[in-house]
Amino acid sequence: MSVSLAQSQTKESLSVPFIDLKQQFENLKPELDKALSPVFQDASFILGPAVKSFEANFAKYVGTKHCVTLHSGTAALHLALIAMGIGPGDEVITVPNTFVATVEGIAFAGATAKLVEVDPKTYNLDVKELDKAYTSKTKVIIPVHLYGQCANMSEIMDWANAKGVQVLEDACQAHGAKDKGKSAGTFGVASCFSFYPGKNLGAAGEGGAVCTNDDDIAEKVRLLRDHGSRKKYVHEIVGHNFRLDSLQAAVLEVKLPYLDQWNAQRRKHAASYMQKLAGVEGLVLPHVPEGSEPVFHLFIVQVADSQVRQKVQDYLNTKNVSTGIHYPVPVHLQEAFSNLGYSKGDFEISENLAERVLSLPMFPELTEAQIDHVVQSLKEALK
Ligand SMILES: *Cc1c(COP(=O)(O)O)cnc(C)c1O
Repeated sequence: MSVSLAQSQTKESLSVPFIDLKQQFENLKPELDKALSPVFQDASFILGPAVKSFEANFAKYVGTKHCVTLHSGTAALHLALIAMGIGPGDEVITVPNTFVATVEGIAFAGATAKLVEVDPKTYNLDVKELDKAYTSKTKVIIPVHLYGQCANMSEIMDWANAKGVQVLEDACQAHGAKDKGKSAGTFGVASCFSFYPGKNLGAAGEGGAVCTNDDDIAEKVRLLRDHGSRKKYVHEIVGHNFRLDSLQAAVLEVKLPYLDQWNAQRRKHAASYMQKLAGVEGLVLPHVPEGSEPVFHLFIVQVADSQVRQKVQDYLNTKNVSTGIHYPVPVHLQEAFSNLGYSKGDFEISENLAERVLSLPMFPELTEAQIDHVVQSLKEALK
């Protein structure tokens, strides 16, 4: 009796944050201290050796010839499009079920976003919808590898190649993900990554990158991120200041060797959630298509509707389980993009998802006891 009581008390007091970056920092502190000191000692804060070295290593990791680091994933989307020759009058196809930055990149490049519905099972771009959005002005399509799972890239590439449309991947949530053995970021002419702290590979602040095999795109992004300049005070084109700090590059350099191991841990946690939540009534679990190797940036379940979701979140809160919603309002219903001319009902699958998705705690350092606590609490909440 007393034993089981003690056990249940430990369980009750367990707290499960949505993500735990402090623990990761504690684990890496000695390595980080060692990596950051040289940046201070050499005062090589801007485009120093740490940036060059991380770019070489991340390009190798992704499997592209070039990696050009930037201040953020948003800047990566923005500059990649400009470097691909996209501007006013051009149309870029993407999805409403994404983080707003995908569409901000299109807007800041001066192009017009055309949205297409997502697949109800994978939550990613539905290839069958592409023809509806295609016009003679369509220049680029941006598939988003949402939640860390690749969009259906073989079919998207086939469609794009047949139409002569370029593909830019939004891989901001998908460092290390694969589709039929091929890595996220290597399908399109270029790809964008984010190193926002909560991403699978995160800086201690902002960060992003464009990866590409195309020499011209890489060179153009390099120019654009640094005032259009190759030589100090000689400005070839109008650029911006979108450089990655050397300190952030040094942090990323320390973390990169751990990425595969962290992704494997995320997969293990996802498998555990899947197994323990299988068959629970009122719950839809993630769908992983044959040949897809997601990296579970987020672990998403669906509940019946937004009211149930609110109740579930409130109950989980009382159990010290933190959850998230990615994302509560699809892009086409955001005020910022009302100029695109869409209205409620235009993308019912995305709208439905926005009402129903719930993100469970997911980070490499999660313990089995924490997962059990989340699962148990979620089952109670749904009763
Ligand atoms: C995080 C993210 C971005 C933007 O990256 P930032 O580094 O935060 O600017 C773009 N697209 C998607 C899908 C993202 O998750």
